[in-house]
Amino acid sequence: MPIASVNPATGETLETFEPLDAAGLEQRLARAEAAFRTYRTTSFAQRAGLLRRAAELLDEDRETVARTMTEEMGKPIAAARAEAAKCARAMRWYAENAEALLADEHPEPADVADAGAARAYVRYRPLGAVLAVMPWNFPFWQVVRFAAPALMAGNVGLLKHASNVPRTAVALEELFRRAGFPEGCFQTLLIGSGAVEGVVRDPRVAAVTLTGSEPAGRAVAAAAADEVKKAVLELGGSDPYVVMPSADLDAAAATAVTARAQNNGQSCIAAKRFIVHTEVYDRFTAAFTAAMGALRVGDPMDEATQVGPLASRQGRDEIAELVEDARAHGARVECGGRRPEGLDTGWFYEPTVLTGITPRMRIHQEETFGPVATVYRVADLDEAVALANDTPFGLSSNVWTEDPAEQERFVRDIQAGGVFFNGMTASHPALPFGGVKRSGFGRELSGHGIKEFCNVTTVWIA
Ligand code: NAP
Repeated sequence: MPIASVNPATGETLETFEPLDAAGLEQRLARAEAAFRTYRTTSFAQRAGLLRRAAELLDEDRETVARTMTEEMGKPIAAARAEAAKCARAMRWYAENAEALLADEHPEPADVADAGAARAYVRYRPLGAVLAVMPWNFPFWQVVRFAAPALMAGNVGLLKHASNVPRTAVALEELFRRAGFPEGCFQTLLIGSGAVEGVVRDPRVAAVTLTGSEPAGRAVAAAAADEVKKAVLELGGSDPYVVMPSADLDAAAATAVTARAQNNGQSCIAAKRFIVHTEVYDRFTAAFTAAMGALRVGDPMDEATQVGPLASRQGRDEIAELVEDARAHGARVECGGRRPEGLDTGWFYEPTVLTGITPRMRIHQEETFGPVATVYRVADLDEAVALANDTPFGLSSNVWTEDPAEQERFVRDIQAGGVFFNGMTASHPALPFGGVKRSGFGRELSGHGIKEFCNVTTVWIA
C-alpha cells in the first residue's frame, strides 16, 4: 500500500509520501537509542511537564487536528474533535498519575526477612525504544493511549502508523516535538508494513505494541517472539450486545445505535452482534432498526452527518461482501444492505441491520468493520452466554440487565476483556483495555498498561 492521504469521502488523493529509505530509518533508530540514554534518567515531574504541554498544544490545535483526521479517514468532524479532546485528557491523566502507578512496591517486612534481605523492593524501570504499529480508525487516540504511558514510564516511542493516515502520523511527531520532548523521544517512521519486521528485530528496539488485524498481529508477534521481545496485541473484536427482559429497552436501543455506528462502524470495541431475549426481541429490533435506518449518512465535514464513508474502498467492498454472503444464505435485511444513492464518489455504505443469521454465514464468525449489525433471538440466559462466546474474538462485551444475579453470571462466564452493563464499551485512561482469545493479549491504559513496557526490577539488599 503506498503511503498516501486519500479522502475517503471523495476518493481524491490529497498527498503522497516517500517511505523512509534505509539511511533515514537507520538515523531514526540511532536517534531513539541516543534519546533513551538520557530520557530514562528524567524525573516524573519533568516528563509530566512535557506531557501537559503536549495536552495544551493539542487543545489549542483541536480543530486542525480534527480536520486532518476527518480528511484522511472519514470520521464525522464532531467525533474527530472529541477524539482530540480525549487524547489531551489522557495525557493529563498519565501526567498526574504515572508516578503513583509506578511507585516502588514494598513487600511485607516478614516476607522481606524470609527472603533473607534487610530491605527489598520492586522498582519499575523503563525498557527502551518501543515500536507502536497502529491502525487508522482512531488515528490520534490509538497512538496517544500508547505514547502517554510509555513516555511517562521513561521509554521512547517509534510510531509506524497505518499507511493511509500519514498526515496524522506526522502531526503526532510534531506535537511531541513542539511540547519539548527531547529529539528522538517520539518519532514517526513513514514505512510500509513490509519494513516492520526489520524494525522489530533491530537490537535498538526493546518491545512492540500492535493495534490492528489478526494477520498483522500474528506477523509482528512472531518476529518479536523470535527475538525474545515483549509484545502487546490489541486486535479485532466482534463484541456481543446482550439485551435481557429487565433492560430499559428505549435506552438499550438508542445506545445500540451509537455502539454499532460510532466511527462509521469501524471500531474494534463496537457492539457487532446483538443478542436479544425473545421476550423483548420484537420491540428492541423494531426500535433499533428504525434508528439505524434514520442515521444521516454523508460528508463527514458536515456537522449534521452521523455516518461518514468507510476509510477505504477495500473496507467498503469487504463489508458489502459480508452482507451479500449473508443475504445469499437467507439473512433478512431489515434496513440498509447497499451503497447509499447519490453518494457515488466516496466509500459509503448504508447502516444495515440483518436478522435470521445462521452459522453458515461468514458474518456469524467474522468481524464486521462497518455500520452493519446482526441481531439474534435467544430463549434464555444460557443461550445468550453461549452465543456471546461463539466467536473467535474476546475484546469486550455489553449486557443490558437490571438483575444482579444475571450480571454476576455474565461477569463469570463471558470470554472477553470487558463486561459493560447497561451502557456501551468505551475506553478510559483509568480502566484497563484489551482482550482475550483472538483479540490479543496484554493491556493498555491504567496501571496495567503503563507496566507492560517496564522492567519490573527486584531490588534485594542484605
Ligand atoms: P491492519 O491492516 O492490521 O493494520 C494495522 C497496522 O498494522 C498498520 O499500521 C499496518 O500497516 C500494519 N500491518 C499490516 N500488516 C502488517 C504486517 N504483516 N506486518 C507488520 N505490520 C503490518 O488493520 P487495520 O485494517 O488498519 O485496522 C482494523 C483492524 O484493527 C480491525 O481488525 C480492528 O478491530 C482492529 N483494531 C483493534 C483495536 C484494539 O484495541 N483491539 C483498536 C482498533 C482497531 P499498513 O497500513 O502499512 O498496512
